[in-house]
Amino acid sequence: MAKFALALHGGAGARRSRDYSREVPHMQGLVEAARDRLAAGASALDVVVEVIRELEASGLYVAGRGASPNLGGKYELDASLMWGPTRAAGAVAALQGYKSPIQAARLVMERTPHVMLVGEGAMEFAAQQGLEEVGDPEAYYLKAGHGESNHPPGQTAALAHGTVGCVVLDADGRLAAGTSTAGVFNKMPGRVGDTPIIAAGTWADADVAVSGTGQGEYFMRTAACAQVSWRVRAGESIAQATKTVLDEIRGLGGEGGLISVDRLGNISTPYNSEGMKRAVLTTDGEIRSEVFE
Ligand code: ASP
Repeated sequence: MAKFALALHGGAGARRSRDYSREVPHMQGLVEAARDRLAAGASALDVVVEVIRELEASGLYVAGRGASPNLGGKYELDASLMWGPTRAAGAVAALQGYKSPIQAARLVMERTPHVMLVGEGAMEFAAQQGLEEVGDPEAYYLKAGHGESNHPPGQTAALAHGTVGCVVLDADGRLAAGTSTAGVFNKMPGRVGDTPIIAAGTWADADVAVSGTGQGEYFMRTAACAQVSWRVRAGESIAQATKTVLDEIRGLGGEGGLISVDRLGNISTPYNSEGMKRAVLTTDGEIRSEVFE
């Protein structure tokens, strides 16, 4: 039987003081639906985008509908996507006014010669493509995860955060990864983190697919997701590779987590924060959805 596997995250900003009784069954349901799609032969790319669109639309995570505004009162969202077989990639950053940044990232990948569009250019492109608009931001966005911030508003250095991501190995052995976020709480206008940066927040090639969540500044400074791949291609297991990269992030003073799957379907989902909303589907068909150890 063909093997497929998946991991998703709903952010590494989880706090033990919060209740995740909605997120855990929600993630479980998404993985069950993805399992059925993968069993029917869906591509890793389609499944990554479908899962992330659902995570964005739910309003339960700090991405899509769950977004919070930046210090200027604007909702600027980031997302990226990478397809392992060709290393095609697409991304949007500081996108305002559209419901699904991951869908915009996919269209950048498939319909432009570029990898990333930002700000007004990204908005013009999303409009040309007919993507669904938010309308009134104050009526649409739900500011999920505010209780996840341990830090008083205004402390930009605290980088309290949340994000969603998904990595998939499909039944044809193809890997894909994607990540979508509203970024860190109380971010400055124009701030862009790791999530839309290919190599920092998202990576997929023939060997491994990786998505990050955490204080993006540190994931950028360690080329976190690409570094996992370099280590795997040098012979490390994904468990070793993700741990080493997270240790490097910790050494610089950062926190967060990584989800990854390799071409054999091995999954690794370490984090060095208090918790990470996450769910996995193993090659044996086992599904787990959890937040803490
Ligand atoms: N990495 C995201 C960012 O820095 C936030 C997160 O993952 O929670 O924008």
